Amino acid sequence: MVVDFTRIRIEKFQTDEACLEFISSQKWADGYTCRKCGHTNFCKGKSPYSRRCTRCKHEESATANTLFHRCHIPISEAFRIAYTVCHDPGVSSYELSRQLERRQMTCWKLKSRLMECLEKRGRIDILYREEAIKIKRTAKKD
Ligand SMILES: [Zn+2]
Repeated sequence: MVVDFTRIRIEKFQTDEACLEFISSQKWADGYTCRKCGHTNFCKGKSPYSRRCTRCKHEESATANTLFHRCHIPISEAFRIAYTVCHDPGVSSYELSRQLERRQMTCWKLKSRLMECLEKRGRIDILYREEAIKIKRTAKKD
């Protein structure tokens, strides 16, 4: 499923919980499959909206393998950055850093990731990174 950040209503994503719930629903829209063993049964993991494989116990967070993987800021702020960048790709990381009171480098890293996605897909797609990883894996096999 594709998420177009120009169409989301940012007011709905003020809390980390709302963002994680949304990411988790997008990510597992076609059902859950464990990345380690391929099992399709899961139970709740330790972190909010994470899923844990009932066979191998591997836990996957809602943000793992998504555009927001390890972005070092609360997910609701990352959503705000994504929203800002897709409406105004020219916004500088300094401006984002000032607005959110976060380190410029953190904003820059996330913005670069978002821009790469925008350039390749024409929109911000939460699951973009996941595909990038798949491509890398395929490339390694050749
Ligand atoms: Zn498993």
